[in-house]
Amino acid sequence: MKKVLKISGLDCPVCAEALQGDILKIKGVNAALVDYVTQTITLETEDEEGIKRAIKVANAFEEVKVLDGGRYALNEGNHAKEWWQIGISALLFLVGFCLELFSTLPVLKWIGYAAYAAAYIAVGYPVLFSTVKNIRKGRIFDENFLMTVASIGAVALGEYGEGVAVMLLYQLGELLQSIAVGSSRKSVATLMELKSERAVLLVGEEQKEVAPEELAVGDIVLVKAGEKAPADGVLLGERAILDRKSLTGEAEVITVHAGEEILSGSINAGNAYQMQIARQYEESAVGRILDMVENASASKAKPEKFIAKFARYYTPAVCVLAILLALAAPLITGLAVDGRLYFKDLPRWVNSALTFLVISCPCALVISVPLTYFSGVGKCARGGILVKGATHLDTLAQADIFAFDKTGTLTRGDFSVLAVHAAEGVSKEETLRVAAALEKGSAHPIARAFAEYNVEATGEAVEEIAGKGLRGKIDGEIVLVGNEKLLADHGIFVTAEGSVYTRVFVAKGARYLGYIEMGDRVKTEAKEALSQLKSLGITRSIMLTGDNKARAEKIANEVGTYEVKAELYPDDKLLIVEELKKKGKVVYVGDGINDAPVMTAADCAISMGKIGSAAAVEAADIVLVKDDLSGVVSAVKIARKTRRIVLQNLLFSIGMKVAFMALGAWGILPLWLAVFADVGVMLLAVLNALRVRI
Ligand code: ADP
Ligand code: MG
Repeated sequence: MKKVLKISGLDCPVCAEALQGDILKIKGVNAALVDYVTQTITLETEDEEGIKRAIKVANAFEEVKVLDGGRYALNEGNHAKEWWQIGISALLFLVGFCLELFSTLPVLKWIGYAAYAAAYIAVGYPVLFSTVKNIRKGRIFDENFLMTVASIGAVALGEYGEGVAVMLLYQLGELLQSIAVGSSRKSVATLMELKSERAVLLVGEEQKEVAPEELAVGDIVLVKAGEKAPADGVLLGERAILDRKSLTGEAEVITVHAGEEILSGSINAGNAYQMQIARQYEESAVGRILDMVENASASKAKPEKFIAKFARYYTPAVCVLAILLALAAPLITGLAVDGRLYFKDLPRWVNSALTFLVISCPCALVISVPLTYFSGVGKCARGGILVKGATHLDTLAQADIFAFDKTGTLTRGDFSVLAVHAAEGVSKEETLRVAAALEKGSAHPIARAFAEYNVEATGEAVEEIAGKGLRGKIDGEIVLVGNEKLLADHGIFVTAEGSVYTRVFVAKGARYLGYIEMGDRVKTEAKEALSQLKSLGITRSIMLTGDNKARAEKIANEVGTYEVKAELYPDDKLLIVEELKKKGKVVYVGDGINDAPVMTAADCAISMGKIGSAAAVEAADIVLVKDDLSGVVSAVKIARKTRRIVLQNLLFSIGMKVAFMALGAWGILPLWLAVFADVGVMLLAVLNALRVRI
C-alpha cells in the first residue's frame, strides 16, 4: 500500500537522504522517498505494520516529527528562538573580538575568550549535538560534521574568533534558508486549503457532519455560503454562484444551474445550496489535485537525480581530499623543499584543508535545484495547472512540437445540430430520432447536442468505435451513427460533398438514413494562445483530428495551426505522434476523449478541463483544471523559467565552489570568508529558485 506521511523538522537534504536509508531498511517497506522540500515521506509498504514502523523510525530521527492528519506544517514556528540565539551569539562574538583585538590586560583577554566560548556554545550546540548523535549512528560527512570539524580545527589552531565566526555564519545561513524554503512550502500548502474539513451530510431532516472522504455517491450535502464543495456533484437547487479562484487560479465566478456539475473546491459565493455527490472524494477534482501535487515530487527531473547522486559521492570524496591536503601536502613540501620527511608548515596546511572542507559543502546545489522545481510545480498548481512531476516540467520546457486534438481542445466541443439532411424517402424526424437514441449512450461532445431532443427510443448494446462513432441496436436492427468511415466499414458507401461542418451519418439496418450537420465553435482564446506559442519559438503546431478534411482545414485556418492531419483514427494519431517524436520533443494537447493512447505516446501530454474524468487525468502528464488553451502557454512559460533557473543555479554554484575550493586549498582564503562565501552562494541560489514564483 502507498502512503504519504507529512513531517516537520527535517532540515537538510543530506538528512533526508539518511532518513530514507533508515526507512528502506525497515522490514515490510518496499520503497520510500523522503523529500526535504515538501517535507514528506512517500512509502510503499506491504501492510499497515510497515507504515507504523516507518513512523516510529522517522520520529526517532533527529528533530523529525510525523504530523498526523493530511495537513502540511504550515507554521514552522516564527524562528524567534533561532533569531535570539544568533543575536546573543553575535553580541558575545563582538565583545570577544574587541577584547581580543584591543585589550592589553591579560585579564580582559581571558574575558574575551570566555565571551567567544559563550558565543560558540549559544549558536553551535545543536550542530555539535547532531554531529555526536550522527557519528554514534555511523553517519558522518554531513553538514553538521563539516562545521564541527572546521570550527574545532580553527580553535585548535588558535584562531578562536574564526571558529566562532564559522558557526555563527553557518547558523545564520541555515536560518535564512529555512525561512526561504518555508515560504515556498507555504505557497503549496495553501493549495491544501482546497479541501474542506467537514461536509454537512443531509440524512432526512437531520444534518450530520462527516469528513469528505466518508461521502458516498448519491449522498446529499448542504454547502453553506462561503464554504467549499466537499466532493464533485450536481446541483439540486435552482442555481448556485461559485467562486473557482482556488481551483483555477483566476478570479472566476460562475453560475451553475439545476443538474449541472459542481467541482469540489469551488467556494459558494452565493446562498446555501444542496448538491448530490457524483464522485467520491478521491475521484473528485480536489482529491485528484492534492494527490497529484503530493506525488509530484516523487518523479524527479534529470538535474534533480543528478544532484542526488552527486551529493552522495561528493562529500566523502572531498573529505579524503581534505585529509590529503592536511597531511600529505606538508609531507611532500617538506621532502621537496628541505629534503627531510616531516610536516612542513603543518598549521597552514590544516587551515587550508579546513577551508576546503567548509567550502565543499554542497548545500547550495542540493537545496536549490529541488526547490526550484518545487516552486515551479507550485506556481503551476496555483494557476490551475497540475503537473504530475518535475520531469514533465522539464520536458515541456524543451518541447518544440505541439500537436493539438481538435474537438474539445481547439474547439469548444459544444456541438449543436445545424441541419438534418434525410436520405430520400426518410423523414428528418426519423434520422434525428435514430441518432439521438444511440447518442444517449455516448460521452463524446457530439452526443451532448442530441440530449435536448429527448427521444423516447434508446439504443441497445451501444458500442463506441473510437474515431468513427457508435454502433448499436434499435427495434432489433443494427444502427450506425458516425462518420463515413464507420458506414463504409459496414458496406454502406455515402458520397457527400466536402462540408465545413462536422457531419454525423446515420444508417439503420442496411439502409442509409441521411446525415446531420453539426456546428462546433472554435474557442475564443485559441488563436491568441497559438500565436503566443509561436512567439515563444514553437514553430511546429499540428492539428490532429478524426473529423473531415474541409472542416479540419477551416478550423486550422481560424486558429492558425500550421499543419492539419484530418480523418484520422486514434491509432493514426498515435503513429503521427511517434513519427513526430523522431524530429523533436512532442507535446500533445487533448481533451482525454478517445486519445489516451496518444497521450501515453507523447513526450508530454496535456489534458484540458477534464479534471473530473479519470481517463483524462490518468493518461496526462499535465492537467489543466480550466478548459482554456492559454493555460498551455502559461505552463510553457513557467516550465522554461524553471529550467532556466535550475541551469543557472547548477552553473553558478558549481562554478563558485570550484573557484573557492581552489583558493581555499591554495591557502589564500580565510576560513570565515569561506563560510561566508558558502552561505552566500547558497542563499543566492535559493533566492534565485524563489524567482520562479514571481
Ligand atoms: P477529434 O479527433 O476531432 O477529437 P474524435 O477522434 O473524438 O474527434 O472523433 C473523430 C470522428 O469520429 C468525429 O469527427 C465523428 O465524425 C466521429 N465520432 C466519434 N464519436 C462519435 C459519436 N459519439 N457520435 C457521432 N460521431 C462520432
Ligand atoms: Mg477528441
